[in-house]
Amino acid sequence: MATVPAIGVLALQGDVREHMRALASSGVRAVAVRRPAELAAVDALVIPGGESTTMWKLAEAFELLEPLRLRIKEGMPAYGSCAGMIMLADRIEGGVEGQQTIGGIDMSVRRNAFGRQVDSFEADIDFADRGTIRAVFIRAPWVESVGPGVEVLGRVPGGAGRSDASAPRDASRGDGDEAGARTPAARPGAVADPAGDDRIVAVRQGPLLATSFHPELTGDWRVHSYFVEMVREL
Ligand code: GLN
Repeated sequence: MATVPAIGVLALQGDVREHMRALASSGVRAVAVRRPAELAAVDALVIPGGESTTMWKLAEAFELLEPLRLRIKEGMPAYGSCAGMIMLADRIEGGVEGQQTIGGIDMSVRRNAFGRQVDSFEADIDFADRGTIRAVFIRAPWVESVGPGVEVLGRVPGGAGRSDASAPRDASRGDGDEAGARTPAARPGAVADPAGDDRIVAVRQGPLLATSFHPELTGDWRVHSYFVEMVREL
């Protein structure tokens, strides 16, 4: 690998620009990936937040789904945030009819898990060995279960800091390009899982990393730096 790794951002849909900026600030070359030839030229890949159903359909239309699966199988490091986490999951719950993922991480992920009432929220998460980070969740999935090879890197505490559920919000709704919005529209202190359980929101399996939340929106690049270290180590 070159001394400065080239890390692609899958640029079919979602908040591509924010990840490009986060990667550039983390000392690597950030490259938009839309075509198989572009995928072949990168050392690693970030799969952004957005909408996993759209991303899946576009990946098929752009003939990227199989090349993506192949590179992941060959050991390319990849980091998926939110919809990107769904794309890296071997199994999904709450997907649309026939929804496919790239796969790679032995986990089951539930789409839109935190439910309507908490479309968007922020919470403090202890992430890996990097201390506490402010995590922004936008119609986020959570990880239902992981296989034995998967390391849990972060959990969101259940039931912490319940806020006024009737407060007006400007988070976009529906299955649109929600993470394309410029602001996360998250509500500080909103309750995470209404049932009050802790939920897994960050995992790693070998060269693959996934978070339910959006570190690219906060200006704190510790999660991207963690990924860049993973890429440099391999
Ligand atoms: N709910 C979206 C999905 O299912 C993910 C949301 C996001 O990436 N912000 O893909």
